[in-house]
Amino acid sequence: MAKDENNKKKKSSRVIRYPWEVLEPVRRYLGERLATLEKRKRAVSEADPFRDKSRLDDNAAIDADAAEQVGHMQASAIRQVLDRSIIQVRKAMSMMKIGKYGVCENCGKMIDTDRLMVMPETTLCVGCEKKREK
Ligand SMILES: [Zn+2]
Repeated sequence: MAKDENNKKKKSSRVIRYPWEVLEPVRRYLGERLATLEKRKRAVSEADPFRDKSRLDDNAAIDADAAEQVGHMQASAIRQVLDRSIIQVRKAMSMMKIGKYGVCENCGKMIDTDRLMVMPETTLCVGCEKKREK
């Protein structure tokens, strides 16, 4: 147990690089996640009623118009969330490319491995994430 505590102290003071065997599955996961997100974004764009330009010419009932409005708002809200996730995943991937995966982009400290396991696309440590949310 004492040895474990020693290791922890060392870990927080210097940056360690993850070995290839650890990074490779993460890299694959991020690639798949990016593909899924982009597919979902395409699906949302296609479902957006405002994509259909002919609606400008038709004098459909006001009700239908309101429904389209709501549909469009939902679509763009979902798209915004997806966009943010896509940017995040891309960022994590490029951090990996330059050998900085797992390093907080704000303070430069190592991100907790438990945190990375839950959110492999994160590029901020817990402390910096909390600060950003405020
Ligand atoms: Zn940080």
